Amino acid sequence: MKFDELGLSPEILQAVHDAGYTDPTPIQQQAIPVVLAGHDLMGGAQTGTGKTAGFTLPLLHRLLRHANASSSPARHPVRALILTPTRELAMQVEESVKTYSKHVPLRSVCIYGGVDMKAQIAELKEGREIVVATPGRLLDHVQQKTVSFNFVEFLVLDEADRMLDMGFIPDIKRIIGLLPKERQSLLFSATFSDEIKRLADAMLRQPQLIEVARRNTVSETISHRVHPVSADHKRHLLLHLLRDPGMTQVLVFVGTKFGASRLASWLERQGIKADAIHGDKSQQQRTEALEAFKSGNVRVLVATDVAARGLDIDDLPHVINYELPHTAEDYVHRIGRTGRAGKKGEAISFFAPEEKQRLADIEKLIKFKIDQVEVADFDVRGLPADGGDRERGERTGRGHGHQHRERERERHGPKVAVRLPETSAHLPETSARPPSAKRATSGFDASKPYEPTPEAAARLAEKPDAPPRRPVRPVAALLGGLGKK
Ligand code: AMP
Repeated sequence: MKFDELGLSPEILQAVHDAGYTDPTPIQQQAIPVVLAGHDLMGGAQTGTGKTAGFTLPLLHRLLRHANASSSPARHPVRALILTPTRELAMQVEESVKTYSKHVPLRSVCIYGGVDMKAQIAELKEGREIVVATPGRLLDHVQQKTVSFNFVEFLVLDEADRMLDMGFIPDIKRIIGLLPKERQSLLFSATFSDEIKRLADAMLRQPQLIEVARRNTVSETISHRVHPVSADHKRHLLLHLLRDPGMTQVLVFVGTKFGASRLASWLERQGIKADAIHGDKSQQQRTEALEAFKSGNVRVLVATDVAARGLDIDDLPHVINYELPHTAEDYVHRIGRTGRAGKKGEAISFFAPEEKQRLADIEKLIKFKIDQVEVADFDVRGLPADGGDRERGERTGRGHGHQHRERERERHGPKVAVRLPETSAHLPETSARPPSAKRATSGFDASKPYEPTPEAAARLAEKPDAPPRRPVRPVAALLGGLGKK
């Protein structure tokens, strides 16, 4: 199927062409006709499937009737609201909106917290048809009366499962309560828990259901290799590989926020431009790090899985798994940032003996064995072992348990009790109007209770790391206070 068979306007097709896309992805093939026909939509899809264009292209098409070049703000009221869980995703989605709307006079703005509101207020005052926002900051604008929803015709909720994880559902419900009832709504989520299903029931009217498979297959243009190395020598191996001037832009994955910051600082001390991106960094720090990485000012970006989720970095040639991920599925997500659109990519993994099971799980998932390659000219003799630094967490009482908790917190977001009120004052009561039980061709059946995917279930059951290699000794003992060695 080609894009021009989908019924999109020539201006939008031109933008698609300019972006270099030739064929619509599966989610685009399914979603675009549904949205163009005016239906609500519940989409099972995650980042990396092309879902942003899947909803943005038809949304722009439907907004074309409002497109105008007038300078009067009154001619540009908010028509479409796209809600995302994170600022990074909001920025990426808005960038896509701008890309796809470049030949039509529709305006967009990105609204997110952690920055001054003034610039956002100025943009909203000028008039913007499309608002891409994180929920909290959008509500700040509601409170300050700097945004009006009277003319909203479209609502898109992106990554609804992550919204839930991050405790945003009450905010979302407040926003939905402020929107005109007559509107078209789309909800995207990678998994469908009962809570997401309830939200969908409340927000969507007889939605069409579409789902594309999780991408557990990896691009054929990516070459994979594993370098066996002890955990103590990983950072030296990384440094060794970075001596190759061809390694210009390298995304390095580690397991914890703590580990990400520490590795980036160590690389900096070795003269390598590096930065870390993780959940504890401020928005400004994360944006700056990402921009510096994209522009080539930072050569190595060290990231945790959660912080990197949704990052859209085009043309990334190298991904290094400094630590193999806990869940095999994360391996696929990590390396999904390289080898895109037929380009060549390299996925390198450092593999310590204690990570054997993780490697086995990955190979089982991707259905092939990854070549294990000793790095010929890397000699560990004479290298200082990383142990002292690596295990510092234990000595300061920030032991393995801490790191596991940290990883869990980042993966699932802060522990916020999220409970949907039994009855909601502002959401239409729709229990008598279940989503249409149309069975999608992919086998997604809304007439049945939603189940987490096997991967999500496995993740929930995820066990802590293997025990630390050294017994954790009480801090007092290390300080000599317990009188024994
Ligand atoms: P998304 O899942 O929306 O985050 O999109 C993932 C990536 O796929 C982005 O870099 C898009 O620019 C790219 N993309 C989206 N649609 C297509 C397409 N039809 N052909 C090629 N690349 C695409």
